[in-house]
Amino acid sequence: MYTCAYRTLSHSSSCDLHLKKKEGQEDQNCTNFSSIDWRNTAFFKNKRKRGMTQSCESELLKKIEELEKENARLRSVGADHSTHTSDDDKIKVDGVFTLDEYKRYGRQMIVPQFGALESQKKLRSAKVLVVGAGGLGSPALQYLCGAGVGTIGIVDGDTVDTSNLHRQVIHSTASVGHYKCDSAKSWMEKLNPHVHVVTYPERMNSQNAFEIVQGYDLVLDCTDHPAIRYLINDVCVVLGKTIVSGSGLKAEGQLTVLNFENIGPCYRCFYPHAPNPNTVTSCSDGGVIGPAIGMVGVGMAMEALKVLTGAYTKETFSPFLISYSAFPHQHMRVFKMRNKQPACIACGHLPQEKKIQQRDIENGTVDYVAFCGKISLDPLDPVHRVSAKQYAEARKANRKHVLIDVRPKEQFEITRISGSINIEWDPIFRKLDSLEEAVPDEMEIKKSDDLYLICRYGNDSQLATSKLLGMGYLGAKDVIGGLDKWSDDVDQTIPKY
Ligand SMILES: [Zn+2]
Repeated sequence: MYTCAYRTLSHSSSCDLHLKKKEGQEDQNCTNFSSIDWRNTAFFKNKRKRGMTQSCESELLKKIEELEKENARLRSVGADHSTHTSDDDKIKVDGVFTLDEYKRYGRQMIVPQFGALESQKKLRSAKVLVVGAGGLGSPALQYLCGAGVGTIGIVDGDTVDTSNLHRQVIHSTASVGHYKCDSAKSWMEKLNPHVHVVTYPERMNSQNAFEIVQGYDLVLDCTDHPAIRYLINDVCVVLGKTIVSGSGLKAEGQLTVLNFENIGPCYRCFYPHAPNPNTVTSCSDGGVIGPAIGMVGVGMAMEALKVLTGAYTKETFSPFLISYSAFPHQHMRVFKMRNKQPACIACGHLPQEKKIQQRDIENGTVDYVAFCGKISLDPLDPVHRVSAKQYAEARKANRKHVLIDVRPKEQFEITRISGSINIEWDPIFRKLDSLEEAVPDEMEIKKSDDLYLICRYGNDSQLATSKLLGMGYLGAKDVIGGLDKWSDDVDQTIPKY
């Protein structure tokens, strides 16, 4: 720690110099300190009026100059400490690690299960690729970096958004708008200057996956979309790389080790068929609690360290899936999983030509987007859809209508358009036999009434509009783009969340 010379000054002068300060203002005062023309300050003018001698003034100015120099020196020492280490710490004591590295990793090296110096050397020579620097990737990257993994690659084509920050804690408010991989790299370099961080500010796809993955020993799948999961899986199986895979949503998550040393089951062994796209929810739609997904990301880092240091071997590895849940009491359960499936088209015991190969992936024969499907909505005739601005005009003209917000009640509680009523699409609205069942008792709705349906982004509201039209409510209209678009185009006081 360095001290601020300002504090010394206030106690040192023989000429009764007292500068008043408030607690916590030292830095601010110190920053401005050297730019002050002391001779023209009110303090000196008043002292002169009261007969301060020339020699006393000179003595004081000299003292201030000395303290300014001392202050600058101490600041530079502090800055050096914040970014790096002393010369002593750069000396390699055994030709392998420096004193700083012994200090830095000592507390993990002395844990019996870790594997002492040999394991630390394995980490230092390891190359780990983390795909996704989001809710899972943030804590995983932080701990892998702290533990001393020699080379860490980060693949992420997204930029930091304010809505990420509650859970993606490797990023900061200042990095909003910057690439996530650059933001993560900047944080990691401050934590551990011994780690080499490589960034890939792009989405992983069939064309770039092999080139990126082949340079690494282990891959952490921290993505949130099934198509990318299958792609990472197939590429790693072809290249013989182990995957630590995690996922999380709301207050739950899972993690596992896939294709361990090319013997273990792969993602396709677990899930040979892609999930129904309409059941896939992303963090932005389904919500996520930061520490819950963080627990999964930290667990992934732990599994990665175990794989890299040899805690599992081909003889001892047994496939597993760890399930985490934050409610009602936090708990983790470990499920034993089946071994490799002989009929798996990625890793199974099939003739080579029947299995997925590099060229099939690169030339698009394996179409991951088509395999995982796209969210399909019944196309709604444009006559039953209005823009946010058109709906605003209807409100302005005081046209009689009912606005039904079909978002989950938690979201309705966060924000809503005045006068709207809430009927959650799932599970209530989608199962309705008649609208009367769900609206307040005093509300009478005729089949010909104008009904506007709104949700967060405009997907569920289309389904709800279709359902109402099918029930004979011919005045039902979908508000295109939902509350998100309403906030953009009509009322910016409606917060995005
Ligand atoms: Zn498989």
